[in-house]
Amino acid sequence: MSTPTFYTDRQDVGHHIAGDVIRPSGGRFSPISNPTTGETLRRVALAEPADVQAAVAAAQAAFPAWSEVPPLRRARIMNNFLALLNAHRDELAAMITSEHGKVFTDAQGEVTRGIEIVEFACGIPQLLKGDYTEQVSTGIDNWTTRQALGVVAGITPFNFPVMVPCWMFPVAIAAGNTFVLKPSPTDPSPALFMARLLEQAGLPKGVFNVVQGDKVAVDALIEHPDVKAISFVGSTPIANYIYERGAHFGKRVQALGGAKNHMVVMPDADLEKTVDALVGAAYGSAGERCMAISVAVLVGDVADRIMPLLVERTRELKVKSGLHLDAEMGPIVTRAALERISGYIAAGVEEGATLLHDGRTFKSTEHPEGFWMGGTLFDHVTTDMKIYKEEIFGPVLSCVRVPDFAQALRIINDHEFGNGVSLFTRDGNIAREFGKRVQVGMVGINVPIPVPMAWHGFGGWKKSLFGDMHAYGEEGVRFYTKQKSIMQRWPESISKGNEFVMPTAK
Ligand code: NAD
Repeated sequence: MSTPTFYTDRQDVGHHIAGDVIRPSGGRFSPISNPTTGETLRRVALAEPADVQAAVAAAQAAFPAWSEVPPLRRARIMNNFLALLNAHRDELAAMITSEHGKVFTDAQGEVTRGIEIVEFACGIPQLLKGDYTEQVSTGIDNWTTRQALGVVAGITPFNFPVMVPCWMFPVAIAAGNTFVLKPSPTDPSPALFMARLLEQAGLPKGVFNVVQGDKVAVDALIEHPDVKAISFVGSTPIANYIYERGAHFGKRVQALGGAKNHMVVMPDADLEKTVDALVGAAYGSAGERCMAISVAVLVGDVADRIMPLLVERTRELKVKSGLHLDAEMGPIVTRAALERISGYIAAGVEEGATLLHDGRTFKSTEHPEGFWMGGTLFDHVTTDMKIYKEEIFGPVLSCVRVPDFAQALRIINDHEFGNGVSLFTRDGNIAREFGKRVQVGMVGINVPIPVPMAWHGFGGWKKSLFGDMHAYGEEGVRFYTKQKSIMQRWPESISKGNEFVMPTAK
C-alpha cells in the first residue's frame, strides 16, 4: 500500500439528487475542518426544505421501476458496487481520516465493516424468499411475501461516515426501496463518493440520493408524506426526537442512540490481554465509537493489579496524525468536541474521581493547530458522578471498583444506556450468567467491541435504541419491507353458498 495522503478537494460539498451533483452557489453552508491540522478545508451545503423535496421526488419517481427489477438483478448491481468499494477502499479511508481524524488503518477497518453489509445485501434474493403453505384448507394455499416500502431515509452521525450509512442503504435498496441519505455535515464527502460508485455500478438515477444538512433537512424528511421509513443513528436526545416525530407522522422508525459501554474485568482475567483490549476499546478512534468502552468495572483485587499497567499503556499511547501507519489515536473531531470532553474531565476532578492520566496536557508538535488530546484515565469513579452517568464520547476511561460480580452486573443493568458490554474472565459459568442476565443489546465475552457481523444485526437496548428492529441483518430486511399474506383458491375448489362464519380448515 502506498503512503496515504489527506483528501484535499477544495470545492464545496453539495447534494446528489437524481444522479446530478448539485453544488449550491448560495444558501447556508457549514465549514468542514481537518481535525489533524485544524484547517478549514471547504464547506458543505445545508439543504433547505425545497432540496429535500427534490430528493424525495427523485426517489419517488425512481421507485416503481426499481421495485419491479428482479431481486437477482438488484443483487448484481450490489455486486458491482461491492467490487468498486473494494477497489476504492483506501480512497474512502483517506477521506474519512481527512474529515473525521481517525487513524487511516482504523478508517480502512471502518470501510471493510461497511463492505460486509454490502456483501450481505448481495444475498437479497434468498433473504426476500417468502413462506408457503400448501392446503391450509381444502384447495386453498397461503403464502407470505415481503415487499418494499417506497422511499426510505437514513440520517447518520459523524463517527462512521461510511459504515453507518452502509448499515442502511445497501439492504434498503437491494430490497427494492429508493433512498435519501442525510449524512453528518461534519464529514459529508464519503456519502457523495459512494453515490458516484453506486451509479458506476449500474444503479438507476434517483434510487440513491444524498442531501447534506442539519435539523432543517431532517425535519423536512420526517414530515414528508412520501418518506415511509426513517433509520437514524446518533445521540440519544435526537434519536428520541426522531422516533417520536416519526411516529407522529405515521412512519416506521428505527433510531439508534448513544451509549455508555462497560467492560467487567474479573479477578481471573488474563491481565495483559485485558489491558490491550481495554486500551484499544477506550482510546481507539479517540473514544468516538458508539461501541467504545468508557467504563472499566474492576471486580475485587483486580483493580490494584491492573491499574499500574493501564496507567503505563495510557501514557504510552501513540497519539499522532492518522496518516502515520503506527498511530493508535488521532485528534478529536472538532474544537467544540475537544472543549466538551475537556469540560467532562474537569467535572470528574471536581467530583472527586482520581485523575491518573490527564489527556488535556497532550500537545502535538507536528500539528499544533489541530484538535488534540491524549488518553485520560480516572480511577475511583462512582456511579453518582456525571462522568459515569453521561456519554462523554471521547478518549476518557472511567474505572469503577466493585466488590463482586453481582455488583458489577447491577450497575450495568441500572445504567440508562444498553448498547454494548464486555466481560473478561476465564470462568465459563460467570460468562454464561453474564450473557443471560445483562440488560444490554450486544455482549462480548473476552471480546472488547462486539459489533455483530453483517448477518446478525446491530442494536442496543434501553436508551440506546428506539424502535423494534435492529440495523442490518435479517432485522434490517424486515425493517425495509412489509409483509403481505396471499391466500388463493381456484374455481374448482370453491364451495357453493355464502359463508358467514369465520373460515376454518375443511
Ligand atoms: P448527533 O445526534 O448530533 O447527529 C446525528 C445526526 O442527526 C446528524 O446527521 C445530524 O446532522 C442530525 N441532527 C443533529 N441535531 C439534530 C436536531 N436537533 N434535529 C434533527 N437532526 C439533528 O450525533 P453525532 O454527534 O453526529 O454522533 C455521535 C453520537 O452518535 C453519539 O451519541 C454516539 O453514541 C451515537 N452513535 C450511536 C450509534 C449506535 O449504533 N447506537 C452508532 C454511532 C454513533
